[in-house]
Amino acid sequence: MIYWDHNATTPCSPEVVEAMRRYWNEEYGNPSSNHVMGRRAATAVNRSREQVSNLINCHPSEIIFTSGATESNNLLFMGVLLTSPTERNRIVVSSIEHKSVLEPARFLTEHGFEIVELSVTRDGVVKLEDAEKAITERTLLVSVQAANNELGTLQPISELADIAHTNGAYFHTDAAQILGKLPFDVQSVNCDFASFSAHKMYGPKGIGALFVRGGVRRWPWERPFRGGGQEMGLRPGTSNVPAIVGFGEACRLAINNMSENVVYLKNLSDEFICALQKSVPDVLLINELQRSLPGTLSLLFYGISADVLIANCNTINISKGSACSSGVIGASHVINKILEDESLRDSVIRISFGIHSSREDFYRFIDIVCDIRQRSMKNGQ
Ligand code: PMP
Repeated sequence: MIYWDHNATTPCSPEVVEAMRRYWNEEYGNPSSNHVMGRRAATAVNRSREQVSNLINCHPSEIIFTSGATESNNLLFMGVLLTSPTERNRIVVSSIEHKSVLEPARFLTEHGFEIVELSVTRDGVVKLEDAEKAITERTLLVSVQAANNELGTLQPISELADIAHTNGAYFHTDAAQILGKLPFDVQSVNCDFASFSAHKMYGPKGIGALFVRGGVRRWPWERPFRGGGQEMGLRPGTSNVPAIVGFGEACRLAINNMSENVVYLKNLSDEFICALQKSVPDVLLINELQRSLPGTLSLLFYGISADVLIANCNTINISKGSACSSGVIGASHVINKILEDESLRDSVIRISFGIHSSREDFYRFIDIVCDIRQRSMKNGQ
């Protein structure tokens, strides 16, 4: 099997699996228990909190462990919801955010908030002129992702954070896709909040974090959940120690291996697009690789349906849009926003390479595409 869908999820690194192993049935204490095994589990959780904070350059007390970026995004928006809207009732997001930002944001409109969705350029980048107009002294929160999951495009988040702060608004970024793939430093981005998932960076599924600048108590917003003091009361419930340990280890590995991985994935993508365009001239690369996550390619195959291509790729795992929106009939909301021509929207696929992807596999994919093109040309004659 060839797996080229790392933006959907990644395999756990062997080191991550090994780090987690003994927390299942040897060191299984509850970190909230005040006995020896509980304290040892708490030490492991604290070590992971430090490892996560080392990767993003913050204080460990600013990390809240959650089940992943979906929950982190929801926690923030629901926290906002539980305060009454004041004259600052505007929330600004990009129109190509993940659904776990767009849906909670849209839900807030039922509760007195106004949502502005910023449009994007053809390759999926938020326009700063539009952001300048939309973000005003009535804006409470700006939320724009660091990198798009379908296109890989990087957003100008530091600039957006500046615009937000100049207007007295808070800035959140959904950083699920960028973490571990490119440097992400909450001080240089100057965000107030950021969301993460471990399984996009060779860690386990079902664990992630919300970065809260200055810690939970600094913020006036209400806690959506109650019933325990874990995670500074913001996310009560017994901590998932093995997953937290795995997330910490994945962050440690990311610090050590990131530069090498970036070079590898950039070269791999450049070589792939060269090889592909030589054999398949009518393919368009939608995202600009220089401004994208290394290893992510959004490809438009003129005249080939993405569903047909995927159906022919028996041994190659690629995707049509995000895993969360596949299963939805038609193109994803992201593709709908960037491609005006409706007839092209069903021909876009996403390839997201990972550190185990190899150039030896390129020709298996290229042969499949060439075969489909030949068949469709014959049928057309
Ligand atoms: N935000 C982005 C940008 C994502 O790519 C994803 C995962 N597709 C999420 C949020 C949600 O992550 P999770 O499913 O781990 O909660």
